[in-house]
Amino acid sequence: MPIKTPQEYVESLRALKINAYIGAEKVESPVDHPAIGPHINTVCKIYELAHNPEHEGLITTTSHLTGHKISRFTHIFQSTDDLMCKIKMLRLLGQTTGTCFQRCVGLDAMNATYAISYEIDAARGTDYHQRFKNYLIGIQDNDLMVAGAMTDPKGNRGKGPSQQDDPDQFVRVVERRADGVVIRGAKLHNTGGINSHEILVLPGTGLKPEEADFAIACAVPVDANGVTLIFGRQTNDDRKTQGSNVDMGNPRFGVVGGEVMIIFDDVFVPYERVFLNGETEYVGQMVTYFATWHRANYGGCKGGNADVLIGATAKIAQIHGVERNTIVKDKVIEMIHLSETCYAGAIGASAAGYTLPCGSYMVDPMMANTVKQNITRNIYSIGRLAHDIAGGFLATMPEEAAFDSPEIGKLVRKYHLCNEGDDVMERVRYGRYIENATSTTTLVEAMHGAGSPQAQRIVMLGLGDLKGKIAMAEEVLNGDSDALGLSIRGQVVTGKTD
Ligand code: SF4
Ligand code: FE
Repeated sequence: MPIKTPQEYVESLRALKINAYIGAEKVESPVDHPAIGPHINTVCKIYELAHNPEHEGLITTTSHLTGHKISRFTHIFQSTDDLMCKIKMLRLLGQTTGTCFQRCVGLDAMNATYAISYEIDAARGTDYHQRFKNYLIGIQDNDLMVAGAMTDPKGNRGKGPSQQDDPDQFVRVVERRADGVVIRGAKLHNTGGINSHEILVLPGTGLKPEEADFAIACAVPVDANGVTLIFGRQTNDDRKTQGSNVDMGNPRFGVVGGEVMIIFDDVFVPYERVFLNGETEYVGQMVTYFATWHRANYGGCKGGNADVLIGATAKIAQIHGVERNTIVKDKVIEMIHLSETCYAGAIGASAAGYTLPCGSYMVDPMMANTVKQNITRNIYSIGRLAHDIAGGFLATMPEEAAFDSPEIGKLVRKYHLCNEGDDVMERVRYGRYIENATSTTTLVEAMHGAGSPQAQRIVMLGLGDLKGKIAMAEEVLNGDSDALGLSIRGQVVTGKTD
């Protein structure tokens, strides 16, 4: 089957019989619900660009399994060039939609499953890798959207999975049958879960040998029996149902990826969809593989989102007549610098990638973690500068209806106008975009998506080779010779001193 069109994607979602809630309300057709519409539009943009001659080279590629043309969102990374193309694709999509486009979690979860299933099979003689390849070919050939489901509720954070008062705080196997397993638990913060076709469940943390029931990686159709999806609340999401496009900030695509809580209430998973089952010693590596790829992503997607935010801020500066002010210009430069630093790190992490035992490619872990650590700061700083330049009206504007009111609209417009002949609503639209694109939901996603800041700092310390760095310092300060024979006083000593 060729790459899906946006229409085919939407129709394929409509055909699913999912058990979904928005708030406390069960929703028969999430596709037609205003809370979900922007997130579906965003994914439609990916399907659309895959058919655009200008961008199809980036959005699509060739399957190493079948030779078929596939979406890059279903591809196993085959080279450092593939890794860089992914980052470039994420930036393009971030620039095109101004928001999270959701498909990357599934992509990185599929790559982690591909890599670790190979390693388990090599050591244990299991057949997880072939099972996963069969599953993946189906995903690639049908161009399906896969939601990666990693984060367990975790209960008491001071205790591991097997020590919880309620063992369901981590997804686990509750029954083993001849033809499959039954899983129970929940995964939180699942980007794009409500508008995906499949859920790829991975463990979210390293496990001890006695925690084998929690060591489960498997694929579940989003409409499988026992799966319940509960859509997450977002900052300002009431505005989606209040009839104002302007107040939504980014009415077409939303200002964040749609997040969903997924409950697995005794869901049966046949063995052909099980890719890790009890091998606790491989779980930590699997989580690390996923997190490392995903942390590099943020330099691409948030770099693209920052481009749109910087553009909206510069536009407001123009409307306000301050675009030539050197202080304003310098703040815009700072925004660009903060964003490009993240993108450069993501490209660097990809260029310095290396081959895994299965033959696929991993990004440089130190650089990937540095990218994500920068994101946890730089996105806040970019938002701060956007607020600084644009001004307080971001937080105090009346709602859109006031601008159209027969009673007060004329005066509301008069006092929001900057220049005779301006379209006052243009200023309002860009202001609302900045307000929503820097909202709590967006910032918290930048902070905690792909792992909280401390998770990156632990990796950075582990890979930082402090012993080696101390040895470097010792050699620089205590070494007594070098090629030029420099003396300790900095004089070049060209021959023997005696
Ligand atoms: Fe992709 Fe970025 Fe959204 Fe994560 S936050 S799913 S990397 S767009
Ligand atoms: Fe994310």
